[in-house]
Amino acid sequence: MPLTLSRRVTAISPSLTLAIDSKAKEMKQKGLDVVSFGAGEPDFDTPEYIRNAAKYALDHGMTRYTPAAGTLSLRQAICDKLERENGLHYTPAQILVCNGAKHALSNVFHAIVDAASHDEVLIPTPCWVSYTELVKCAGGTPVFVPTREENNFIATAEDILPYVTERTKALVLNSPNNPNGCVWPVEELQKIADLAVEKGFYVVSDEIYEKLIYDGEKHTSIATLGEDIFRQTIVINGMSKAYAMTGWRIGYTACSLEIAKAMTSYQSHATSNPNAIAQYASEIALREVETSDATIAAMVAEFDRRRKRIVALINDVPGISASLPKGAFYVMMNISQLIGKSYNGRVIRGSSDFADCLLESELVAVVPGVAFQADQYCRLSYATSMENIERGIARIAAFIARLS
Ligand code: PMP
Ligand code: GLU
Repeated sequence: MPLTLSRRVTAISPSLTLAIDSKAKEMKQKGLDVVSFGAGEPDFDTPEYIRNAAKYALDHGMTRYTPAAGTLSLRQAICDKLERENGLHYTPAQILVCNGAKHALSNVFHAIVDAASHDEVLIPTPCWVSYTELVKCAGGTPVFVPTREENNFIATAEDILPYVTERTKALVLNSPNNPNGCVWPVEELQKIADLAVEKGFYVVSDEIYEKLIYDGEKHTSIATLGEDIFRQTIVINGMSKAYAMTGWRIGYTACSLEIAKAMTSYQSHATSNPNAIAQYASEIALREVETSDATIAAMVAEFDRRRKRIVALINDVPGISASLPKGAFYVMMNISQLIGKSYNGRVIRGSSDFADCLLESELVAVVPGVAFQADQYCRLSYATSMENIERGIARIAAFIARLS
């Protein structure tokens, strides 16, 4: 028998978002003055009351295995949150606490996708890098639904319909969106819900950026739009973004009992429960509603200031442009006018060339849009200081001026 790797893992590409973030961090550690727009995480510390909850958990013996699906009290706190903030009614048996929302998504695709029946999962693009690979990991086939910047990157039911086949198992919805910051209007969500019910596919609704939303936009979970779509939706959420808890690794799913049970069995073998201390801290974060709301509001106000500034600065530079995102903390910088230009004799054929040359020339890290199926763009995270935003865009302007 040849000592080969499985076809499944060899078909998977590493996460470019994480790779760029660690490359920028490594360069900084070497003393280089790197400005990084790569980070997909808040640049704020986890709030003190959450850190204190973790210390309490450590000192009060919460250091053992919990049920594989998470503690009952955390799952109840998640149910209360979903009821209070999203108008969704679940019981704790329908909740699975996972090692981050990424792991939650992995569980979902493993639970609903079959390789043998060539299941397809629809993903509107530009899309977050891991959806594609997670669907492939589970043996499914990602099917991209392209959208356009002129339509605010919104995939409508009409855009989705031509891609629906007998094999369509699920649609991934991510509103507010990574990487483009778009927020689906409720009327569009309703049409998508109707389509999913008519054609009979699941909706995997990744709502991790729900609280990072601007200009009075309101987040609506597609699961609220009728009894049928409620049953067909798997809601994904987590603590990483709104609570600045990326390293704590707590995410969760809310869905039908049938899928929740299947995923719990799977998780009980794959990882057991998520970290017990982080679970307790997450419970406190969800229960201390007033403190959380105030902390999140302050963070959102700061992201909002940066969002407006970064978009204005980009639009002042000839050759690049950006639309104002409505949620999350990313902006898509359109570089289509620069494709075909050269830097030091190297032709910029797409976003990877642009990002490589920019990092080499100006020590500015951005994520090439090719990672998100959008090669005419680079993604900039504005989860970084205003000073970095101003320095970074000035360097990008200098880089562009040097292109021939
Ligand atoms: N979904 C989206 C759209 C994301 O951007 C991220 C960021 N990593 C995740 C899920 C996963 O978050 P985490 O695993 O840190 O909870
Ligand atoms: N979601 C973040 C990003 O897109 C974090 C990195 C990752 O998990 O991909 O940058």
